Amino acid sequence: MDVNDMGTDLTKVLVTQEEIQAKIEEIAAEIDREYEGKDLLLVGVLKGAVMVMADLARALHSPVKMDWMAVSSYGSGTQSSGVVRILKDLDTDIAGKHVLVVEDIIDSGLTLSWLLSNLSSRGPASLRVATLLRKPEAAKVDIDVQHVGFDIPNEFVVGYGLDYAERYRNLPFIGTLAEHVYA
Ligand code: 5GP
Ligand code: MG
Ligand code: MG
Repeated sequence: MDVNDMGTDLTKVLVTQEEIQAKIEEIAAEIDREYEGKDLLLVGVLKGAVMVMADLARALHSPVKMDWMAVSSYGSGTQSSGVVRILKDLDTDIAGKHVLVVEDIIDSGLTLSWLLSNLSSRGPASLRVATLLRKPEAAKVDIDVQHVGFDIPNEFVVGYGLDYAERYRNLPFIGTLAEHVYA
């Protein structure tokens, strides 16, 4: 899919496919350096992080393992409550392992904050975070994030794994939705 398939659903392309791919190469190089000689487990947070995980993992030169978690924030509407429920847990025991959580986007940060304390209680050797997108203006908690692709304005975005009502995940770029789509 590309922007020409989108009709009037998007108001703009915020991050192009080329920009995403270049940034992922950069982050992969940092990760290769940081974990040199160590076993690394990438933990992708479903479903949004599927695209980042797939591209990041293939951009790495080091062999890694991959596992997945699915979580959902309780609470109504589009705001995350910070009360999180595990829909799918890891298959792997992460005790003593080097874990890098791979995220699509950090909005309020409440979901990730909960996830990090949950994972940290399992005794990993290290626990760090890489996210493609972050909305600094929306932050409700301070989280130490080691790799951030792009800081973006506080707008609802879709594409490259991110959905609105399960749509738009397969766009290869990040765009902002037009208001008539919500209405
Ligand atoms: P947080 O707990 O940081 O507020 O919410 C994180 C989750 O909310 C993300 O993993 C994502 O599923 C969803 N989310 C937050 N902002 C956006 C956005 O701009 N677009 C989309 N599609 N999902 C978002
Ligand atoms: Mg996510
Ligand atoms: Mg979603």
